[in-house]
Amino acid sequence: MSIHVLNHARDLLLDETPLARNCGTLCGAACCQGDQETGMILFPDEEKLYEGCTFGHILPANYRIGQHRAQIFVCNGSCPREMRPLACRLFPLFLRFENGSPRVRLDPRADMCPLLDFGLNGLRKSFVSAAETAYNCLLADPVQADFLHGLDDAFSL
Ligand code: SF4
Ligand code: SF4
Repeated sequence: MSIHVLNHARDLLLDETPLARNCGTLCGAACCQGDQETGMILFPDEEKLYEGCTFGHILPANYRIGQHRAQIFVCNGSCPREMRPLACRLFPLFLRFENGSPRVRLDPRADMCPLLDFGLNGLRKSFVSAAETAYNCLLADPVQADFLHGLDDAFSL
């Protein structure tokens, strides 16, 4: 179940972008500077989609997000658009639980992203809406929901 939900969430954000224009031209694609060490966290089961990947590799992490052993995808700095990890598709958004209710927010740790200066309302509405739908799909799956709660807990440390 988890992989189907994950694929649906990825599909919802396949063609959505934070701005109507290519925001990478604003910042030199600051979030896509592959340095061979840092990367994007993979959602549960997403690692299966990157077996044999030619534009990056998976780094197992020595911590858990919820019940899930974390894995990081480290890219070379470019990728086929349709193969972007879900975390890249959602960037710079993040799901918080405020008084138990899920809320899509800008991720303040995405400090290289100039879009943070404009707030959530500065992003394209269809992008934020697609992210909300994707998060709601993920929350309907126990494995993905546990992971999202774990991510929020890690954010709060
Ligand atoms: S850092 Fe922000 S503005 Fe730059 S490409 Fe990434 S999402 Fe777009
Ligand atoms: S996987 Fe693609 S979208 Fe994600 S950081 Fe690397 S180049 Fe950017």
